[in-house]
Amino acid sequence: MSAMQQVDFDIARARSETPGCRHVVHFNNAGAALMPQPVINAVGDYLRLEASIGGYEAAEQAHDKIDQVYDLAAQLVGCARNEIAIVENATRAWDMAFYSIPFKAGDRIFTSMAEYASNYIPFLQVQKRIGVTIEIVPNDEHGQLSLDALKEMADDDVRLIAITHVPTNCGLVNPADEIGKVARRVNALYLLDACQSVGQMPIDVERIGCDMLSATSRKFLRGPRGVGFLYVRSSLIGELEPPFLDLHAARWVNRKQYEIRSDARRFENWEANYAANVGLGAAISYSLEWGLDDIWRRVRFLGDTLREKLGEIPGITVHDLGAVKCGIVAFSLAGWDAEAVRRALRRGNINVSVARKEHTLLDMASRGLDTFVRASIHYYNSEDEIDRFYKTLKSIGGSPNTAGRY
Ligand SMILES: *Cc1c(COP(=O)(O)O)cnc(C)c1O
Repeated sequence: MSAMQQVDFDIARARSETPGCRHVVHFNNAGAALMPQPVINAVGDYLRLEASIGGYEAAEQAHDKIDQVYDLAAQLVGCARNEIAIVENATRAWDMAFYSIPFKAGDRIFTSMAEYASNYIPFLQVQKRIGVTIEIVPNDEHGQLSLDALKEMADDDVRLIAITHVPTNCGLVNPADEIGKVARRVNALYLLDACQSVGQMPIDVERIGCDMLSATSRKFLRGPRGVGFLYVRSSLIGELEPPFLDLHAARWVNRKQYEIRSDARRFENWEANYAANVGLGAAISYSLEWGLDDIWRRVRFLGDTLREKLGEIPGITVHDLGAVKCGIVAFSLAGWDAEAVRRALRRGNINVSVARKEHTLLDMASRGLDTFVRASIHYYNSEDEIDRFYKTLKSIGGSPNTAGRY
C-alpha cells in the first residue's frame, strides 16, 4: 500500500515543544515516548510543590488538578469519569480487571495470537487455579485476528474475550470494533489491552464495545512513567470484586463488614505518585489538543514512509502484520542480531528497541522469530529523522557485523 497522504501538522511546533528532539532520534515511542514540555512542567511543578509545602498538603492544594485527570481520561476514551481508575501502569490496570472476574471451572477465555506475556501468564494462572480454558483465535490472511474464526468459535459459553489492540512487537492493529460486536452477540465480557493504541489513534469504548480497557501513560500518550489507567463499564463495576482491597477501595464498616466503593476507583489503591498522575493529565490534555484523528493520520503516514524506506535496503525484512498498520515498525537485518542493530543505532544517537520472543510468544513462535528490531515513530518525528535512520541503517547493513559479536 502506498504511503498515506501527508497531513497538515505543525511539526515545527511539536518538535520545539519536545526538548528530547534536540538530543536524539527517538524511534522508541512504543517503549516510552519523549515527554513534551507541558508534561515535564506539570510533573516538575508538582514535585516542587510537594517539596515546598508537604506531600499531603500539596495533594490538598492541587485537589482540582488531580481530580481533573479522571475527566481527561474519560474524555480521551469516551466514557464517564466514574468508570476510570488511575493505577501504576497498564499491567496493573489489566490485572485488576482480569482478576476481578469471578471465573468458574469450564469458563472459556478467548484471546489473540498477538497477546502480551503479562496477559497470557495470568490466563495460565487462572487456568491452573480454577480450570478455565484458553482458546486462541487464529489470524486471518492479513495477520490480524480472524473475525470469521472468532464468529465460528464464539457461543454463549464464552466468558471473556481478552485481546490486544496493538501488540507490543509490531504494526498490527486488531479489528477491535468488530470483535466488540461479536462479544455483545454472545454476551461475553470484553477486555481490551489498549496499551499501544491509546495516544496513537482515536479510542472510543462505546464504538469498540469493550467492557474493560487498560492503558499506560508513558507510551503513545507521552506521559511520565509509572502510571496508567483502567476503564470499566459502569454497569459491570458492581459485579467485579477486586483481588486486593484497601481503605481507599473499600470502607471498613464494623468488625464484620467492609463496603467496596461503587465507582471504578475500587480498582485503585490509596497511595499514588501524584506528580505522575498530574503528568498523565497534562499528557492527555496535550494529545487532545493535537487531536487524535490528526495524530493517527500523521503516525500512519510516518509509519508507512519508514516501511517503504526500509524496503529499499538490501537484507532488511519488515515483519509488520495487519490490514491496518500503525507507528510500530518491526524489521530484521540479514546476518545481524537485533540487539547488535539496536546498539549500532544507539551509537548513532538513534533509539529503537528489540522485540523478544517471550514477550509475544504465540506470534513469534508461529512465525519462527526469536528477536527483531522495533522502531516506533510518533507524530513529532520528522521525515528528516527517517532519512537519517535509513542512511545509518544502510551503512550498518553494508559493514561486517563485528559489533554484533558478543
Ligand atoms: C507495554 C505493554 C503493556 C504493559 O504496560 P505497562 O504500562 O508496562 O504495564 C501491556 N500490553 C502491551 C501490548 C504493551 O505493549
